Amino acid sequence: MKKLISLGLLAVICSASPVMAAGEKIGLLMSDLRLERWQKDSDLFTHAAQALGAKVYTQSANGDASTQISQIENMISRGVDVLVIVAENGEVLGNVLSEAKAEGIKVLAYDRLIKFADIDLYVSFDNVRVGEMQAEALMKREPKGNYFLLGGAPTDNNAKMFREGQMNVLNPAIERGDIKVVGDQWATGWSAEAALNIMENGLTANQNKIDAVVASNDSTAGGAIQALNAQGLAGKVAISGQDADLAAIRRIVAGSQTMTVYKPISKLATTSAELAVKLARGEKISTNSTVNNAKKEVPAVLLTPIAVSKDNIDSTIIADGFHTHKEIYNP
Ligand code: BGC
Repeated sequence: MKKLISLGLLAVICSASPVMAAGEKIGLLMSDLRLERWQKDSDLFTHAAQALGAKVYTQSANGDASTQISQIENMISRGVDVLVIVAENGEVLGNVLSEAKAEGIKVLAYDRLIKFADIDLYVSFDNVRVGEMQAEALMKREPKGNYFLLGGAPTDNNAKMFREGQMNVLNPAIERGDIKVVGDQWATGWSAEAALNIMENGLTANQNKIDAVVASNDSTAGGAIQALNAQGLAGKVAISGQDADLAAIRRIVAGSQTMTVYKPISKLATTSAELAVKLARGEKISTNSTVNNAKKEVPAVLLTPIAVSKDNIDSTIIADGFHTHKEIYNP
Protein backbone atom coordinates (compact mmCIF):
# COMPACT_ATOMS: atom_id res chain seq x y z
CA MET A 1 0.00 0.00 0.00
CA LYS A 2 1.34 3.43 -0.86
CA LYS A 3 1.89 5.94 1.86
CA LEU A 4 -0.97 8.30 2.57
CA ILE A 5 -0.51 11.68 1.02
CA SER A 6 -1.86 14.90 2.39
CA LEU A 7 -5.48 14.78 3.44
CA GLY A 8 -5.77 18.29 2.06
CA LEU A 9 -6.70 16.50 -1.13
CA LEU A 10 -9.83 15.19 0.52
CA ALA A 11 -11.03 18.70 1.08
CA VAL A 12 -10.88 19.15 -2.67
CA ILE A 13 -12.82 15.94 -3.22
CA CYS A 14 -15.43 16.93 -0.65
CA SER A 15 -16.19 20.30 -2.10
CA ALA A 16 -15.78 19.55 -5.78
CA SER A 17 -19.05 18.00 -6.88
CA PRO A 18 -21.83 20.25 -8.09
CA VAL A 19 -25.29 19.46 -6.74
CA MET A 20 -27.51 18.27 -9.58
CA ALA A 21 -30.67 16.25 -9.31
CA ALA A 22 -29.77 13.73 -12.00
CA GLY A 23 -31.28 10.76 -10.15
CA GLU A 24 -28.29 8.43 -10.20
CA LYS A 25 -29.23 5.05 -8.75
CA ILE A 26 -26.99 3.67 -6.02
CA GLY A 27 -27.30 0.18 -4.55
CA LEU A 28 -26.00 0.20 -0.98
CA LEU A 29 -25.18 -3.31 0.19
CA MET A 30 -24.51 -3.50 3.92
CA SER A 31 -22.94 -6.57 5.49
CA ASP A 32 -24.78 -6.38 8.77
CA LEU A 33 -26.99 -3.55 9.96
CA ARG A 34 -27.32 -5.16 13.38
CA LEU A 35 -23.98 -3.68 14.51
CA GLU A 36 -24.13 -0.16 15.90
CA ARG A 37 -21.59 1.40 13.57
CA TRP A 38 -23.13 0.20 10.31
CA GLN A 39 -26.51 1.79 10.97
CA LYS A 40 -24.71 5.12 11.26
CA ASP A 41 -22.78 4.49 8.05
CA SER A 42 -25.96 3.63 6.19
CA ASP A 43 -27.90 6.66 7.44
CA LEU A 44 -25.08 9.12 6.79
CA PHE A 45 -24.32 7.73 3.34
CA THR A 46 -27.97 7.78 2.29
CA HIS A 47 -28.47 11.30 3.53
CA ALA A 48 -25.36 12.59 1.72
CA ALA A 49 -26.16 10.78 -1.56
CA GLN A 50 -29.77 11.98 -1.55
CA ALA A 51 -28.58 15.54 -0.97
CA LEU A 52 -26.60 15.16 -4.21
CA GLY A 53 -29.72 14.07 -6.06
CA ALA A 54 -29.10 10.31 -6.07
CA LYS A 55 -31.55 7.56 -5.18
CA VAL A 56 -30.26 4.98 -2.71
CA TYR A 57 -31.56 1.40 -2.47
CA THR A 58 -30.29 -0.32 0.68
CA GLN A 59 -30.11 -3.97 1.66
CA SER A 60 -28.42 -5.69 4.61
CA ALA A 61 -27.07 -9.25 4.34
CA ASN A 62 -27.27 -9.63 8.13
CA GLY A 63 -23.96 -11.44 8.23
CA ASP A 64 -24.63 -13.91 5.41
CA ALA A 65 -22.32 -13.90 2.38
CA SER A 66 -24.66 -15.77 0.00
CA THR A 67 -27.53 -13.42 0.88
CA GLN A 68 -25.27 -10.55 -0.09
CA ILE A 69 -24.54 -12.10 -3.49
CA SER A 70 -28.30 -12.45 -4.19
CA GLN A 71 -28.82 -8.86 -3.09
CA ILE A 72 -26.11 -7.68 -5.49
CA GLU A 73 -27.79 -9.64 -8.31
CA ASN A 74 -31.05 -8.00 -7.39
CA MET A 75 -29.45 -4.54 -7.61
CA ILE A 76 -27.97 -5.39 -11.01
CA SER A 77 -31.45 -6.31 -12.31
CA ARG A 78 -32.79 -3.10 -10.86
CA GLY A 79 -30.37 -1.23 -13.11
CA VAL A 80 -28.37 0.69 -10.53
CA ASP A 81 -25.51 2.87 -11.75
CA VAL A 82 -23.18 2.17 -8.85
CA LEU A 83 -22.85 -0.54 -6.23
CA VAL A 84 -21.51 0.56 -2.86
CA ILE A 85 -20.62 -2.57 -0.94
CA VAL A 86 -19.62 -3.35 2.63
CA ALA A 87 -18.51 -6.89 1.85
CA GLU A 88 -19.59 -9.62 4.23
CA ASN A 89 -16.97 -11.89 2.68
CA GLY A 90 -14.49 -9.89 0.63
CA GLU A 91 -13.17 -12.92 -1.24
CA VAL A 92 -16.28 -14.33 -2.92
CA LEU A 93 -17.69 -11.44 -4.94
CA GLY A 94 -15.50 -11.75 -8.07
CA ASN A 95 -18.13 -13.51 -10.21
CA VAL A 96 -21.15 -11.41 -9.33
CA LEU A 97 -19.10 -8.26 -9.80
CA SER A 98 -18.06 -9.39 -13.29
CA GLU A 99 -21.80 -9.48 -14.07
CA ALA A 100 -22.05 -5.93 -12.75
CA LYS A 101 -19.09 -4.84 -14.86
CA ALA A 102 -20.68 -6.35 -17.97
CA GLU A 103 -23.69 -4.10 -17.34
CA GLY A 104 -21.44 -1.04 -16.99
CA ILE A 105 -22.12 -0.73 -13.26
CA LYS A 106 -19.38 0.91 -11.18
CA VAL A 107 -18.28 -0.63 -7.88
CA LEU A 108 -17.11 1.15 -4.74
CA ALA A 109 -15.79 -1.03 -1.88
CA TYR A 110 -16.89 0.71 1.30
CA ASP A 111 -14.68 0.30 4.38
CA ARG A 112 -13.73 -3.31 3.50
CA LEU A 113 -11.59 -4.22 0.51
CA ILE A 114 -13.14 -6.60 -2.03
CA LYS A 115 -10.47 -8.95 -3.34
CA PHE A 116 -10.09 -10.82 -6.66
CA ALA A 117 -12.58 -8.49 -8.33
CA ASP A 118 -12.56 -5.64 -10.82
CA ILE A 119 -13.63 -2.79 -8.56
CA ASP A 120 -13.37 0.93 -9.31
CA LEU A 121 -12.66 2.44 -5.92
CA TYR A 122 -11.94 1.63 -2.28
CA VAL A 123 -12.83 4.13 0.45
CA SER A 124 -11.78 3.31 3.99
CA PHE A 125 -9.52 4.20 6.86
CA ASP A 126 -5.87 3.33 7.17
CA ASN A 127 -6.64 -0.04 8.69
CA VAL A 128 -3.05 -1.09 9.37
CA ARG A 129 -2.71 2.09 11.39
CA VAL A 130 -5.86 1.12 13.36
CA GLY A 131 -4.12 -2.12 14.44
CA GLU A 132 -0.96 -0.23 15.34
CA MET A 133 -2.92 2.18 17.52
CA GLN A 134 -4.57 -0.69 19.37
CA ALA A 135 -1.26 -2.42 20.15
CA GLU A 136 0.48 0.86 21.02
CA ALA A 137 -2.13 1.72 23.65
CA LEU A 138 -1.91 -1.75 25.21
CA MET A 139 1.90 -1.68 25.27
CA LYS A 140 1.83 1.71 26.92
CA ARG A 141 -0.13 0.21 29.80
CA GLU A 142 1.38 -3.30 29.80
CA PRO A 143 4.88 -3.14 28.29
CA LYS A 144 5.51 -6.72 29.42
CA GLY A 145 3.38 -9.79 29.99
CA ASN A 146 1.02 -12.31 28.47
CA TYR A 147 -0.91 -11.07 25.44
CA PHE A 148 -4.02 -12.70 24.00
CA LEU A 149 -4.79 -11.92 20.33
CA LEU A 150 -8.52 -11.72 19.59
CA GLY A 151 -9.00 -11.12 15.88
CA GLY A 152 -12.18 -10.20 14.01
CA ALA A 153 -14.04 -12.11 11.29
CA PRO A 154 -11.58 -14.15 9.23
CA THR A 155 -13.66 -13.39 6.11
CA ASP A 156 -13.14 -9.62 6.51
CA ASN A 157 -9.96 -8.29 4.90
CA ASN A 158 -9.92 -5.48 7.47
CA ALA A 159 -9.50 -8.04 10.25
CA LYS A 160 -6.24 -9.11 8.60
CA MET A 161 -5.06 -5.54 8.20
CA PHE A 162 -5.76 -4.77 11.86
CA ARG A 163 -3.72 -7.84 12.80
CA GLU A 164 -0.90 -6.74 10.50
CA GLY A 165 -0.77 -3.39 12.29
CA GLN A 166 -0.95 -5.00 15.73
CA MET A 167 1.97 -7.27 14.91
CA ASN A 168 4.04 -4.35 13.53
CA VAL A 169 4.02 -3.00 17.06
CA LEU A 170 4.08 -6.24 19.06
CA ASN A 171 6.77 -8.13 17.13
CA PRO A 172 9.81 -6.23 18.47
CA ALA A 173 8.56 -6.74 22.05
CA ILE A 174 7.91 -10.43 21.35
CA GLU A 175 11.44 -10.77 19.97
CA ARG A 176 12.87 -9.05 23.05
CA GLY A 177 10.97 -11.54 25.20
CA ASP A 178 8.94 -8.79 26.90
CA ILE A 179 5.66 -10.04 25.52
CA LYS A 180 4.45 -13.59 25.19
CA VAL A 181 1.48 -14.40 22.94
CA VAL A 182 -0.63 -16.88 24.93
CA GLY A 183 -3.58 -17.19 22.55
CA ASP A 184 -4.52 -16.33 18.98
CA GLN A 185 -8.15 -16.68 17.89
CA TRP A 186 -10.54 -15.04 15.39
CA ALA A 187 -14.17 -14.24 16.24
CA THR A 188 -16.52 -15.43 13.49
CA GLY A 189 -18.78 -12.62 12.27
CA TRP A 190 -17.15 -10.20 14.72
CA SER A 191 -19.70 -11.50 17.22
CA ALA A 192 -19.60 -10.65 20.90
CA GLU A 193 -20.78 -14.17 21.75
CA ALA A 194 -17.91 -15.75 19.81
CA ALA A 195 -15.49 -13.42 21.62
CA LEU A 196 -17.01 -14.32 24.99
CA ASN A 197 -16.47 -18.05 24.34
CA ILE A 198 -12.94 -17.52 23.07
CA MET A 199 -12.05 -15.45 26.11
CA GLU A 200 -13.57 -17.93 28.57
CA ASN A 201 -11.52 -20.72 27.03
CA GLY A 202 -8.42 -18.53 26.83
CA LEU A 203 -8.65 -17.65 30.52
CA THR A 204 -9.08 -21.29 31.50
CA ALA A 205 -6.18 -22.41 29.30
CA ASN A 206 -3.91 -19.77 30.89
CA GLN A 207 -5.11 -20.08 34.50
CA ASN A 208 -6.32 -16.47 34.16
CA LYS A 209 -2.73 -15.26 33.61
CA ILE A 210 -3.47 -12.78 30.83
CA ASP A 211 -2.24 -9.18 31.03
CA ALA A 212 -3.62 -7.77 27.78
CA VAL A 213 -6.22 -8.67 25.17
CA VAL A 214 -5.70 -7.34 21.67
CA ALA A 215 -9.37 -7.09 20.66
CA SER A 216 -9.89 -5.71 17.17
CA ASN A 217 -13.22 -3.95 17.72
CA ASP A 218 -15.71 -2.93 20.37
CA SER A 219 -18.24 -5.73 19.87
CA THR A 220 -15.57 -8.40 20.42
CA ALA A 221 -14.05 -6.37 23.28
CA GLY A 222 -17.52 -6.32 24.89
CA GLY A 223 -17.76 -10.12 24.75
CA ALA A 224 -14.25 -10.57 26.11
CA ILE A 225 -14.85 -8.10 28.95
CA GLN A 226 -17.90 -10.11 29.98
CA ALA A 227 -15.65 -13.17 30.35
CA LEU A 228 -13.02 -11.12 32.23
CA ASN A 229 -15.71 -9.73 34.50
CA ALA A 230 -16.91 -13.22 35.43
CA GLN A 231 -13.38 -13.90 36.73
CA GLY A 232 -13.12 -10.58 38.57
CA LEU A 233 -10.57 -9.37 36.02
CA ALA A 234 -12.41 -6.56 34.24
CA GLY A 235 -10.29 -3.42 34.57
CA LYS A 236 -7.22 -5.43 35.60
CA VAL A 237 -6.53 -6.68 32.09
CA ALA A 238 -5.72 -4.13 29.35
CA ILE A 239 -8.02 -4.48 26.33
CA SER A 240 -8.35 -2.59 23.07
CA GLY A 241 -11.33 -1.96 20.77
CA GLN A 242 -12.49 -0.01 17.74
CA ASP A 243 -15.53 1.96 16.54
CA ALA A 244 -16.20 4.21 19.54
CA ASP A 245 -19.48 2.38 20.18
CA LEU A 246 -21.41 4.05 22.99
CA ALA A 247 -21.16 0.96 25.21
CA ALA A 248 -17.39 0.89 24.68
CA ILE A 249 -16.95 4.56 25.54
CA ARG A 250 -18.87 3.94 28.74
CA ARG A 251 -16.60 0.98 29.52
CA ILE A 252 -13.57 3.21 28.96
CA VAL A 253 -14.98 5.73 31.42
CA ALA A 254 -15.70 2.90 33.90
CA GLY A 255 -12.16 1.53 33.40
CA SER A 256 -12.95 -1.95 32.03
CA GLN A 257 -11.76 -1.13 28.47
CA THR A 258 -8.43 0.60 27.81
CA MET A 259 -9.06 2.27 24.48
CA THR A 260 -11.03 2.33 21.25
CA VAL A 261 -10.27 3.64 17.80
CA TYR A 262 -12.60 6.35 16.61
CA LYS A 263 -13.08 6.46 12.88
CA PRO A 264 -15.00 9.58 11.83
CA ILE A 265 -17.69 7.70 9.95
CA SER A 266 -19.42 10.81 8.70
CA LYS A 267 -16.30 11.61 6.67
CA LEU A 268 -16.20 8.09 5.27
CA ALA A 269 -19.91 8.15 4.42
CA THR A 270 -20.00 11.61 2.86
CA THR A 271 -16.77 11.11 0.90
CA SER A 272 -18.09 7.78 -0.40
CA ALA A 273 -21.44 9.30 -1.35
CA GLU A 274 -19.77 12.09 -3.29
CA LEU A 275 -17.42 9.70 -5.05
CA ALA A 276 -20.22 7.22 -5.81
CA VAL A 277 -22.23 9.97 -7.48
CA LYS A 278 -19.16 11.02 -9.46
CA LEU A 279 -18.57 7.43 -10.57
CA ALA A 280 -22.19 7.27 -11.71
CA ARG A 281 -21.73 10.46 -13.72
CA GLY A 282 -18.47 9.22 -15.21
CA GLU A 283 -16.63 12.17 -13.66
CA LYS A 284 -12.96 12.07 -12.74
CA ILE A 285 -12.23 11.33 -9.09
CA SER A 286 -9.23 12.15 -6.94
CA THR A 287 -7.73 9.57 -4.58
CA ASN A 288 -4.85 9.57 -2.10
CA SER A 289 -3.63 5.97 -2.31
CA THR A 290 -3.85 2.66 -4.14
CA VAL A 291 -4.39 -0.80 -2.70
CA ASN A 292 -3.68 -4.08 -4.43
CA ASN A 293 -6.70 -6.42 -4.24
CA ALA A 294 -4.97 -9.40 -5.91
CA LYS A 295 -6.66 -8.45 -9.21
CA LYS A 296 -5.52 -4.86 -9.75
CA GLU A 297 -4.18 -1.72 -8.14
CA VAL A 298 -7.41 -0.18 -6.87
CA PRO A 299 -7.55 3.61 -6.52
CA ALA A 300 -8.26 4.32 -2.87
CA VAL A 301 -9.14 7.08 -0.46
CA LEU A 302 -7.86 6.23 3.02
CA LEU A 303 -8.89 8.37 5.99
CA THR A 304 -7.10 8.79 9.31
CA PRO A 305 -8.27 6.94 12.45
CA ILE A 306 -7.99 8.43 15.97
CA ALA A 307 -6.99 6.54 19.13
CA VAL A 308 -9.29 7.30 22.06
CA SER A 309 -8.69 6.63 25.74
CA LYS A 310 -10.19 8.16 28.88
CA ASP A 311 -8.13 11.34 28.41
CA ASN A 312 -9.36 12.47 25.01
CA ILE A 313 -13.02 11.37 24.85
CA ASP A 314 -14.18 14.98 25.18
CA SER A 315 -11.88 16.43 22.52
CA THR A 316 -12.68 13.72 19.94
CA ILE A 317 -15.96 11.80 20.25
CA ILE A 318 -17.92 14.52 22.04
CA ALA A 319 -16.38 17.44 20.14
CA ASP A 320 -17.38 15.72 16.88
CA GLY A 321 -20.93 15.13 18.11
CA PHE A 322 -20.46 11.36 17.65
CA HIS A 323 -21.93 10.83 21.14
CA THR A 324 -23.09 13.46 23.59
CA HIS A 325 -21.59 14.16 27.02
CA LYS A 326 -24.89 13.16 28.60
CA GLU A 327 -25.10 9.83 26.74
CA ILE A 328 -21.62 8.94 27.93
CA TYR A 329 -21.46 10.26 31.47
CA ASN A 330 -25.10 10.45 32.62
CA PRO A 331 -27.03 7.75 30.80
C1 BGC B 1 -14.82 -2.50 10.37
C2 BGC B 1 -14.92 -2.26 11.85
C3 BGC B 1 -16.06 -3.08 12.43
C4 BGC B 1 -16.01 -4.52 11.98
C5 BGC B 1 -17.21 -5.29 12.42
C6 BGC B 1 -14.71 -3.97 10.10
O1 BGC B 1 -14.60 -4.23 8.75
O2 BGC B 1 -13.73 -1.80 9.82
O3 BGC B 1 -15.10 -0.89 12.09
O4 BGC B 1 -16.02 -3.06 13.82
O5 BGC B 1 -15.89 -4.58 10.59
O6 BGC B 1 -18.37 -4.84 11.85
